[in-house]
Amino acid sequence: MLLLWKGAKQRIWFKTSPMRLSPCANIMGSGSGSLVWFRKGIRIHDNPALEFASRGASHLYPVFVIDPHYMEPDPNASTPGSSLAGLNRIKFLLESLVDLDLNLKTLGSRLLILKGDPAEVVIRCLKEWNVGKLCFEYDTEPYYQALDVKVKNFALDAGIEVFSPVSHTLFNPTDIIKKNGGKPPLSYQSFVKLAGEPPSPISTVYSSLPPVGHLGSCDISEVPTLRDLGYGDAEQDEFSPFKGGESEALKRLDECMKDKKWVANFEKPKGNPSAFLKPATTVLSPYLKFGCLSARYFYQRIQEVYKSMPKHASPPVSLIGQLLWREFFYTAAFGTPNFDRMTGNRICKQVPWKDDDKLLEAWREGRTGFPWIDAIMIQLRKWGWMHHLARHSVACFLTRGDLFVHWERGRDVFGRLLIDSDWAINNGNWMWLSCSSFFYQYNRIYSPTTFGKKYDPNGDFIRHFLPVLKDMPREYIYEPWTAPKSIQNKANCIIGKDYPMSVVSHDSASKECRRKMGEAYALNKELNGLVSEDDLKKLRRKLDESERQGQQGGAKRYKQQLIG
Ligand code: FAD
Repeated sequence: MLLLWKGAKQRIWFKTSPMRLSPCANIMGSGSGSLVWFRKGIRIHDNPALEFASRGASHLYPVFVIDPHYMEPDPNASTPGSSLAGLNRIKFLLESLVDLDLNLKTLGSRLLILKGDPAEVVIRCLKEWNVGKLCFEYDTEPYYQALDVKVKNFALDAGIEVFSPVSHTLFNPTDIIKKNGGKPPLSYQSFVKLAGEPPSPISTVYSSLPPVGHLGSCDISEVPTLRDLGYGDAEQDEFSPFKGGESEALKRLDECMKDKKWVANFEKPKGNPSAFLKPATTVLSPYLKFGCLSARYFYQRIQEVYKSMPKHASPPVSLIGQLLWREFFYTAAFGTPNFDRMTGNRICKQVPWKDDDKLLEAWREGRTGFPWIDAIMIQLRKWGWMHHLARHSVACFLTRGDLFVHWERGRDVFGRLLIDSDWAINNGNWMWLSCSSFFYQYNRIYSPTTFGKKYDPNGDFIRHFLPVLKDMPREYIYEPWTAPKSIQNKANCIIGKDYPMSVVSHDSASKECRRKMGEAYALNKELNGLVSEDDLKKLRRKLDESERQGQQGGAKRYKQQLIG
């Protein structure tokens, strides 16, 4: 169908057959219908865009656009999924859409699934349908900022009212930045001081929603299945135990809130990162990521528990404190140009990281030879979720702890495989863990052999995610290369054959990393943060040279350690 667009508030014409032009009934922008565009915010509760769209509307178009770029299989990706998202996240999103569709149907509506470039699709819908209001949740991510400008400009030119409320976060990052004199606060404490109390969630309960209007010739489908998207033969031996959707989110929230003592005493660093049958934290992050759960509602529910438990933990370690970490990173990300890269990012230390594909691959695929690290990375591949301190362990190991690989490379792996993959939080935490920003104590390194042992001396977590080590005696489970050959034979796991030899010696690698970080910090200080590409190159050369010299001695010592 050819669409002849004749400008704002003008009659539009559709060419419905090769020869006949017929006037469309609507006058653009004067329609009494509303389009609510779901992207994140995949929920009915505390959804101001949905509430505004449905208020007084003769009909409502609830739309979700499947972007093939985000959803369709990439045969070259390292695990099943698209180039941008692992299969677990795609599955979680589809489940969330099915749930939203079901919930809309109980209210007399339904979810309209369209496919294509999101801006083009939404603009096409605005042209075809009788719509006077366009409503969608405000999004601070650069991708959405660019996308939304296109759609918003079109709508405003067409005389369509646009409503784009902040409801993904507790606070509006713009307000916080304004309060702070135009810059985002870069410490958690200063953020908390500025933030104050968040607004309450909206409490609208619907008995019904306006019916869906005339759909014209738009190609609408039901929520696709994984098979519909081309994943019919995808091999994935274990899917994430976390199912998507608002209903699941609210059920999970209720379960968590029932245990008032647990909520009141929640202190993040005290949790057990190896607990996997019953994780030590809420696992609400995937639901917050897609907005199946409103952060404001979550916050309100915690406050209700606190009211009946006056002795409770406080930020930054409490559960409320965790939600404030999310807000802190959202605000820092929104107010910092180039937040997602080292170059051109004024808050990021310039460090001559290595681009070592082999080490990166070993880390990504759980083949570093350090069972604690590898088991966490396998949990990421299989479940798309790991405990916060587990994320700390593997991020530190990849960057400033052992391998000295660029944090952006690790960020990309997390960004693709996590179900809760979140642009602001992921980048912020990778900068934190690599001591590139926010946290600067690069001498404090997580041991890949002793950290996990404190929580799980028997190595049950390792045995679950790395079954090849399931019969390794507990005294060797964290350092299997130290097991005598006879023990390796008995455990059916020969190191170097069935399970890899460790890719580095932690003692010498971590020492080397500290030295490099020290040199990089000194350079950043000397040049007041204005480190050029050339300065970094020079430092890289210098560090490589001294590493080569050190390696000759280190290799000898490592060999002796292994033999000894
Ligand atoms: P809970 O402890 O139950 O906390 C409740 C909520 O608070 C979380 O769901 C989350 O929204 C928020 N929260 C908790 N910790 C943090 C934190 N450090 N920073 C920001 N928000 C926090 N979290 C993501 O949601 N998406 C990511 O892409 C992501 N990438 C990370 C990368 C690295 C290297 C690290 C170290 C952490 C990352 N995190 C990320 C933060 C954190 O690990 C997860 O939010 C948390 O483990 C999710 O589990 P939960 O919902 O049980 O958390």
